[in-house]
Amino acid sequence: MQSKSQERTPPRVTRRGFLGAVSAGLAAASAAGASPLNPQETRGARMISLPPLPWGDSDLAPHISQETISFHYGKHHKAYVDNANKMIEGTDLANASLEDIVKAAWGKPEKKGLFNNAAQVWNHTFYWNSLSPKGGGQPTGKLLSMIQSDFGDYAKFKEDLAKMCVTQFGSGWAWVVEEGGKLKVEQTPNAETPLVAAGKRPLLTIDVWEHAYYVDSVIDKLLNWEFAAKNLG
Ligand code: MN
Repeated sequence: MQSKSQERTPPRVTRRGFLGAVSAGLAAASAAGASPLNPQETRGARMISLPPLPWGDSDLAPHISQETISFHYGKHHKAYVDNANKMIEGTDLANASLEDIVKAAWGKPEKKGLFNNAAQVWNHTFYWNSLSPKGGGQPTGKLLSMIQSDFGDYAKFKEDLAKMCVTQFGSGWAWVVEEGGKLKVEQTPNAETPLVAAGKRPLLTIDVWEHAYYVDSVIDKLLNWEFAAKNLG
């Protein structure tokens, strides 16, 4: 996995340099988008952005390597952002929020490409926030009591969540969601997301594509329960 990612990383650009350039480009783009002086540049003032990672790209090692993160973020996630922006350009969704774009495109055959790209942007951004170098272990407070009443105990919750990760065939996501006051674990294929399901509140996600082998360490060491608590409200 590591050597594969390295091969595909552009030569002569250090990963830090590459990510730095992405952030610098974003800052410049948002400054240009916010400018009222040139109407052409204000097109898509709310263009979909590639948000900075919430931690350094090597901070999740050894559980997820810097190479994996920088490739996954700098190539895949960025490509979804670029594709989605091209698709909304000049349409009535050009100024919509990412969440509204995902919801507007969901279930519409003619907007399938837009849904796939926009939802992958949303899911990946949500995924990065679902991980933390200080994460893992059992949550506390309301989340722990929900785990106890809806799963019995943390061990059972963990077993069920891991099952959602490893039984998702091919590309997809495992989710912790709240629905009707209950905590649930679910899986979705490809770009699909519980964001579009009425009454479901996504709390955490794990990208299961090519990553089934690290599910245990993601749950044990990286799952960001503070983010889940914030989403639960
Ligand atoms: Mn991915």
